[in-house]
Amino acid sequence: IITKLLLEHNVRATINQILSEEIVQLLGLEYNVEIEIKKKEASEEYDFVADQVSAREEDKVLRAPIVTFLGHVDHGKTSLLDCIRKTKVAEGEVGGITQHIGAHKVETNGKHVVFLDTPGHEAFTAMRARGANVTDVVVLVVAADDGVMPQTEEAINHAKAANVPIIVAINKIDKPSANTLRVKQQLSNLDLIPEEWSGKTPFVETSAITGAGIDTLFELLWLESEILELKAIPKNPARGVVLEAHLSEGRGVVANVIIQDGTLHQGDIILCGRTYGRARLLIDDKGKEIKETGPASPVSISDFSDIPEAGDKFYVVSDIQKAREIALEKRNKDRETSLAKHQHITLDNLYSMI
Ligand code: GDP
Ligand code: MG
Repeated sequence: IITKLLLEHNVRATINQILSEEIVQLLGLEYNVEIEIKKKEASEEYDFVADQVSAREEDKVLRAPIVTFLGHVDHGKTSLLDCIRKTKVAEGEVGGITQHIGAHKVETNGKHVVFLDTPGHEAFTAMRARGANVTDVVVLVVAADDGVMPQTEEAINHAKAANVPIIVAINKIDKPSANTLRVKQQLSNLDLIPEEWSGKTPFVETSAITGAGIDTLFELLWLESEILELKAIPKNPARGVVLEAHLSEGRGVVANVIIQDGTLHQGDIILCGRTYGRARLLIDDKGKEIKETGPASPVSISDFSDIPEAGDKFYVVSDIQKAREIALEKRNKDRETSLAKHQHITLDNLYSMI
């Protein structure tokens, strides 16, 4: 009866045909029933692979924490990252030359920590604005000579808004003008009270110049990640977030991503925002070509149909045709909403857009 009715509206329908919203509403009118149309949310891609995704407790394993350095300009965020990279990466790797792929996974004593390369709350906020909460722990860097500054307070607010725990690194303790007590007092006034003062915030005193406190910082990060019980399921299809993407001569579209769950294998089909593709080539943060990589790993993937944007989520899917359809659909939708200003979004210009 329904197909006959549809024919009257010039719709030739088979039993499993997908009908337009308009037609469904029309049908509702004819049958005198109220129709409520539920729209799929942003999680539509996840639904698409949900049948293959395990959420079983026994499949879960602990994963490395993903860390972002925040703090006032010139307080030493980049220097601390460099210091960690030099001492820790060089320790374990032959050559110790690191690739810039947006994040680094560092191992000491068999434990891993992932550091995001882009310090500062611009990137942190921009990612969050796109719904990509990649950071598990914030290291708030405060220079011992300067003390709390406006961007220190901003950084605290951002971390609190994101509900991400803070570890304080009082940096530049090698300087004669360093005054760590003052920094602790200032931060206590902002509700970041050191554990030694019966508060809840871990503090560490560091120097990016001498390397003091770096080992303690690692211990605090591991402790925090144990408390957070960060877990992932390695046997799941990979999903994660794009940190940065660009067109590379010879490699096509390259996306530097961080895997949040699952394992990415060479040859996997990937759906990523408005783009899709196959993970033909995987390169890790040490510049090494790899065949697969698991949760909490930064990896550089090529190639894709188009350049994805920082903050785009990616999913491994089983069907390249479907991936294409969804990517195209998304692209058309973006075009319609004119949200897509023909501009390649990076973390830098993303901030100026929000
Ligand atoms: P960022 O803006 O927070 O990334 O700060 P940078 O890492 O660029 O550091 C700003 C300046 O402070 C640079 O000249 C660094 O060499 C210096 N600096 C950073 N960490 C330390 C430290 O622990 N001790 C001393 N003495 N100088 C530092
Ligand atoms: Mg910097």
